Amino acid sequence: MGASQAGPETTDRDAFPDLRSWLRRLAATGRLAVARSGLSLIDELAAVAKKLERDRAVLFPSPGGHAIPVVANLFADRGWVADSIGVPTGQLLARFQEAVRHPRRWIEVGQAPVQQIVHREVDLLRLLPIPKHNEYDSGPYITAALLIARNPKTGVQNVSIHRCQVSGPDRIGILLLPRHTHHYYKMAEEAGEALEIALVIGVHPACLLASQAIAPLDADEMEIAGALLGRPVEMVRCKTNQVRVPAHAEIVIEGRILPHVREPEGPFGEFPQYYGPRANREVIQVDAITQRSQPIFHTIVGGGMEHLVLGEIPREATLLDHLQRSFASVRDVRLPRGGTCRYHLVVKIDKTNDGEPKNIILGAFGGHYDVKRVVVVDRDVDIDDPVEVEWAIATRFQADRDLIVVSGAQGSKLDPSTDGGIGAKMGIDATRPVDADPNVYRRIGVKGLEAVDLAVALQPDGEAALARILAAQNQTDW
Ligand code: MN
Repeated sequence: MGASQAGPETTDRDAFPDLRSWLRRLAATGRLAVARSGLSLIDELAAVAKKLERDRAVLFPSPGGHAIPVVANLFADRGWVADSIGVPTGQLLARFQEAVRHPRRWIEVGQAPVQQIVHREVDLLRLLPIPKHNEYDSGPYITAALLIARNPKTGVQNVSIHRCQVSGPDRIGILLLPRHTHHYYKMAEEAGEALEIALVIGVHPACLLASQAIAPLDADEMEIAGALLGRPVEMVRCKTNQVRVPAHAEIVIEGRILPHVREPEGPFGEFPQYYGPRANREVIQVDAITQRSQPIFHTIVGGGMEHLVLGEIPREATLLDHLQRSFASVRDVRLPRGGTCRYHLVVKIDKTNDGEPKNIILGAFGGHYDVKRVVVVDRDVDIDDPVEVEWAIATRFQADRDLIVVSGAQGSKLDPSTDGGIGAKMGIDATRPVDADPNVYRRIGVKGLEAVDLAVALQPDGEAALARILAAQNQTDW
């Protein structure tokens, strides 16, 4: 593969899309700030990143005096996500659905920029600039690493993101929710073996997004990344195990999740804006770190915009797919930020009968257990604007007629108001009746508003114009 010759600083048009290509695009479009050199990895770095989270990505040179720079805020909103995979924002969910339906296999290469340097003596905090994020986090966390694991029987790979606590020089505490990585780990543990894994830090946004797809077990998310990128991802075999990792990543931590070992992990600030508690959890033994010669370390502030947006888009695409399989009237969905981009769902429909919204609400509860509130709105409501959605509830909803409550259902364990994850679901039908009198539900609007050009309609010097008008008034009054 010619690509293995491409150095990390290449500007070759044919270079593989990597973290650097996205940083160059952000910088060229005024969306990348560079912090003062040497900010502290403890609290200071995360505070600056958080301050800029809706506005700019930020690169931190020499954080805590460390040679490796840190970058944060790769996404500030869904528009950035769309830009990172080269589609208009309105086509973002459709593009993601397409990639999930038509994945693209990766190819294996023999040499890789991410293996330019190999460390077999590992001291995580000495080798890598790992920040602490929220105030009561137990300490430094690796938060933006793709965890790649192999099915111990078939070798099929899975990609996911987990919070990774630095527990010792070569030890990492990890939270494994009961999904695919956990399934592979259980297979290995029951055989009395460790699960070989890699933590991949610093990749193109498409790889991060793909890792969050709600795909079936044994669907390799790196193939979804290939479909999003429009070319196969180039992967290389790890130095100390069988896992294949993206060749154009910045840093790879190679290791094993140990069987029958649990150690304290947490607390850690999570997406619901609360801390996930400390408990005994699985442990990674680190065997090696490989990296580019001058790598960049990516971090995500727990519960920050980047964290929320990264989870939002793949979930929306999955929920939209799920609803559209049963309901032809469903046009679009959003997981708004007030609902932590997980718990509250807004569904836009072209309503054809008055019972339909309630069926859609019940269908949405089955789409993902995290969803606890569904609002169904008509097509004229802008679902990107929380004020519009609340207005639809205010003027098209009556609680005794249009509300559904389901008690004792499975919800999110990270929602502190549930009883260990068991909670209630609420559905709100905020649509107009199909046979409504159009005069009653006609939205007010000022004719010509859209066409107004203020450069034409206004005088450039308002103060002088006011003086002239008042002077003329004075003459006629007297
Ligand atoms: Mn998976």
